Amino acid sequence: MITTDMHVHSCFSSDSSEQMEAIIDTAIQKGFSYVYFTDHHDERFPVHPSAPDMTFQLDFDRYISKLQDLREQYKNTIEVRFGVEQGICPEVAPDIDAISNRYPFDFIIGSSHLTRLENGDPYYPEYYENKTNVEAYREYFMSEAENVLLTDGFDIYGHLDYAVRYCPDPTFVYQFNDYRDIFEVLFKRLIEHGKGIEINTAGITKIGYPHPHIEALRLYKALGGEIITVGSDAHVKENIGFGFDIAEDLLKETGFHYYTVFKNRKPEFLPLS
Ligand SMILES: [Zn+2]
Ligand SMILES: [Zn+2]
Repeated sequence: MITTDMHVHSCFSSDSSEQMEAIIDTAIQKGFSYVYFTDHHDERFPVHPSAPDMTFQLDFDRYISKLQDLREQYKNTIEVRFGVEQGICPEVAPDIDAISNRYPFDFIIGSSHLTRLENGDPYYPEYYENKTNVEAYREYFMSEAENVLLTDGFDIYGHLDYAVRYCPDPTFVYQFNDYRDIFEVLFKRLIEHGKGIEINTAGITKIGYPHPHIEALRLYKALGGEIITVGSDAHVKENIGFGFDIAEDLLKETGFHYYTVFKNRKPEFLPLS
């Protein structure tokens, strides 16, 4: 059984209104060993006119101070661990190290929500203009591979095939083999730099399976990948631990006998029983 959720958002993220105390209470009810918070920060995020409240700027000082209070308050019940989800794109990658080193994080997810600051958000149709869908996804995965060389300020790469959620053409079918060459480069770089990946179960409701595709997990394992976390990407407390039975089956099916948690940014490997 997987006994913690490594990807959880609270009201410190622009797209969540969940209270941290409610998240901790849910984690306790589920019998988790630790509770992680991984709220969003996307440095220099280009706020879209259609969603002016989605700024994704984390108030780090207030966030860390609140987490310290909660760690103290719950110390006899559950361990509160400090995480963050840093949005990375090549223009901001050099800033990520400094931010990551400034605060006492246990765990940092690096994620691509943008491939670049201008028209780089696969959530919006303008991202797909003047390119085929395969080109659009290749650009997304190539920017992830590029980011790994530009910053050390993260521990695992989040929701690797997140762009697949948003293709404006509903008839387009994502075929992993069209991108296998890029994933090979990406995984080799992650492994070489001591970074991992995650199984992100939010994919189950968005694309029918957890991020990333099972063929990506197989390739990562075949190339020697060891570090793999499991997270729900919950933005409401009801989704904490969502689909973890599916994630556990996937890990076993692809040859992993453990999952990974982080403390003080160091991986710890926990056996799957
Ligand atoms: Zn994300
Ligand atoms: Zn997230």
